[in-house]
Amino acid sequence: MSPQSGGSFVAQHATESRAPVSTPREMLEPKVLDGHAIAERIKEQLKQELFILKAHPHLRILYFGTQASLLYYRAQLAAADELGIEIDGRQSESAHFPWDNVTQQELERAIQEWNDDPKVHGIFVHQPLPPQIDAQRVSAVIDPRKDVEGIHPQNSARRFFAKARIGSCTALAVMELIESTRVNLEGKEAVVIGHSEIVGRPVSMLLLDKLATTTVCHLGTDKAGRLEDHVRRADVLVVAVGRPHLIKGSWIKPGAIVIDVGINVVGKRVVGDVEFEAAKERAAFISPVPGGVGPVTVMMVMKNTVEALKLQMSRQ
Ligand code: NAP
Repeated sequence: MSPQSGGSFVAQHATESRAPVSTPREMLEPKVLDGHAIAERIKEQLKQELFILKAHPHLRILYFGTQASLLYYRAQLAAADELGIEIDGRQSESAHFPWDNVTQQELERAIQEWNDDPKVHGIFVHQPLPPQIDAQRVSAVIDPRKDVEGIHPQNSARRFFAKARIGSCTALAVMELIESTRVNLEGKEAVVIGHSEIVGRPVSMLLLDKLATTTVCHLGTDKAGRLEDHVRRADVLVVAVGRPHLIKGSWIKPGAIVIDVGINVVGKRVVGDVEFEAAKERAAFISPVPGGVGPVTVMMVMKNTVEALKLQMSRQ
């Protein structure tokens, strides 16, 4: 179905004509949301902001010996490089810990040193954390004004009251992709699959802020055999589980917006949680994996780093 065809959700509710998903990567079909193009636009805005601020934020990253962490870290390095944000990985100031041996004390000590260092504006801790580490304690140790992933309990609480100073970078990326469609979310059926602290829950809060009627599904929903029912009525579907092709293309409501956050390595390929090819036949807009949420999330970390710098400049 064409996004503009009569009867589709998007045709009825788009507040403006279809978003100019400006596409340097022409091979993507028009309704496929181009995360690289959206990230590029945000990067240009950040460059201007940093030019006006005449500042170079410093970001510190803590990552582990997993391949996924390393890929994400390299993408962060590249984005920071283009913006003049100093990560200092090359000067070994960001910390790479071995997955098996790292202790809670070591991680907390590294974070505390960065909290106390006025030259450091942002701190990012890669997830998942090794099993011996208490992730909630780690989140709580980061200075909330330097928490560029938006995971500190204080930042989570502010999100609850729609007053976040620094939002969850993945959730903000999901909203950027949805907003690029220019569809007004008020009163729409939004369904979020996955309720983790870093993706599902913050996304559902942001959808509520837009007055979407929001349902959150999880393992319990699947066990009860109700996942398909919820997906079938979703005008906006966000999937953040980490199970390849959990969501069947045939379940997608015609004309829906589908945002696939999942990253799964299957053989030599990276795939999402949604059956992309089949879902693309029914959705009005769909984000691919790779090339959808990922690049925008990386840029949102940079955006949050600039926000953190501004917070610290104003001493709030
Ligand atoms: P997570 O902490 O493991 O959470 C997964 C969520 O999925 C949980 O809420 C879990 O519910 C739910 N779930 C598990 N099995 C399910 C099923 N069969 N049906 C429905 N829900 C189910 O993972 P996460 O950190 O939120 O990440 C989710 C995915 O997004 C991963 O693939 C991750 O790599 C990816 N990710 C991508 C980006 C990006 O920038 N593109 C950023 C972050 C994460 P229960 O707790 O009830 O079991």
